[in-house]
Amino acid sequence: MTLRLYNTLTRRKEDFKPLDPSNVRMYVCGPTVYDFAHIGNARPVIVFDVLFRLLRHLYGPEHVTYVRNITDVDDKINARALRDFPELPLNEAIRRVTEKTASQYQADVKALGCLEPTAQPRATEFIDQMIEMITVLIAKGNAYQAGGEVLFDVASMKDYGALSNRKLEDQQAGARVAVEVHKKNPGDFVLWKLSSAEEPGWESPWGRGRPGWHIECSAMSKSYLGEVFDIHGGGLDLIFPHHENELAQSRCAHGTKKMASVWMHNGFLQVEGQKMSKSLGNFVTINELLDTDKFGGRKWDGQVLRLAMLKTHYRQPIDWSVRGLEEAQIALDGWMQLAKGVEPSTIPSGILDALQDDLNTPQVVTELYRLGRLKDAPALAASLHRLGFEDTTYISGARRAVEKAFATMDAREVDTLITARLAARAAKNWKESDRIRDELDAMGVSIKDNKDGTTSWEVKR
Ligand code: AMP
Ligand code: ZN
Repeated sequence: MTLRLYNTLTRRKEDFKPLDPSNVRMYVCGPTVYDFAHIGNARPVIVFDVLFRLLRHLYGPEHVTYVRNITDVDDKINARALRDFPELPLNEAIRRVTEKTASQYQADVKALGCLEPTAQPRATEFIDQMIEMITVLIAKGNAYQAGGEVLFDVASMKDYGALSNRKLEDQQAGARVAVEVHKKNPGDFVLWKLSSAEEPGWESPWGRGRPGWHIECSAMSKSYLGEVFDIHGGGLDLIFPHHENELAQSRCAHGTKKMASVWMHNGFLQVEGQKMSKSLGNFVTINELLDTDKFGGRKWDGQVLRLAMLKTHYRQPIDWSVRGLEEAQIALDGWMQLAKGVEPSTIPSGILDALQDDLNTPQVVTELYRLGRLKDAPALAASLHRLGFEDTTYISGARRAVEKAFATMDAREVDTLITARLAARAAKNWKESDRIRDELDAMGVSIKDNKDGTTSWEVKR
């Protein structure tokens, strides 16, 4: 069986043929680091981690290059820096916001069982490459300077709009956006914009300014993966304008027929039918889910969220619910117990075939349930590992419940009761001593009388 992937550009599933099997190259748009990532943002990270692992399995770990960028220049970041660190110079404030958010992000996605990509470049480290690319685009007649900006001229590219299936004429006719007078075409987008003295900026041939959003991915993918590479991914909302514009910039600058062979997009994680997003305010951060009791009254293991997501095919929407997590946790608790410490077999073909069919993870999960029912521990161990589930770091639902009981138990009250019981025993008042033991038992505490006359206790499992 060969790997087949759905390509947004051609709108069909295609056999995957790497440009160079000794270096399979994938680029996925990463986070803008101004705030905690939400669990909707976690979806592309998990989906493309599953693909990264599959490619490593098929081509060999050393033959796959996966780049996921970090957007650390953005007006939302500037606003957050001014709000959170008004006393600091802007550059320093921005650095604080981006460093803190980026390291939180790394911790979050690690807890979801995701491997580190081969490289995670930051946009601010590629400003020179962006300037170079914009210079080429101007020289080739694909970009122009107007109104304090450098803009991409969408009319200069014959098939602009092919990825998102939008025709330029339709866009003009239906344009609701106020036409900005300096643009030749309402769809022309910013490559570079001038910065005021208060805004962050870099020197450029067009004055001190900062890059538009799309150019960074064109510059970073070129630096790491070359002018043309295999797979470009992200969430559905990135098809237009972000990916359409990346594609336009890269193809026009390099004079290539394509930027990437396959364009892949995951569907949305939704809340009551609406996309989970910062702007709608209907979001749950990864951190809240893993480190607080806000959802279902307990903390969740990141691998539970991973499984809950993989139960749905990546192109379908998912409705977020605590019930989905509960089901995933019950399944994982059982599988992990079975597979713990077991020598893995090779991966069953049922799992591998399903993965190769455009990442059919719902089918994979069905297979996992089957292996669980058959108690085929070696096959289960191999499959879980291949999918990024690790028993060494997994904390089961039962363990979590014990931890929670510990955290909420009033240890002083327990100590007081134990002291009273020791006094009753010393007075040979066995009835009272037994009553206290029962009271502790009802609280979920079991006690053990030690040889040295002390009593130790623990929360019952
Ligand atoms: P952003 O930081 O908003 O650019 O998003 C980072 C990544 O998360 C992009 O690939 C988005 O497409 C993706 N994304 C954002 N919201 C959702 C959502 N509710 N469901 C799935 N993916 C999302
Ligand atoms: Zn991008």
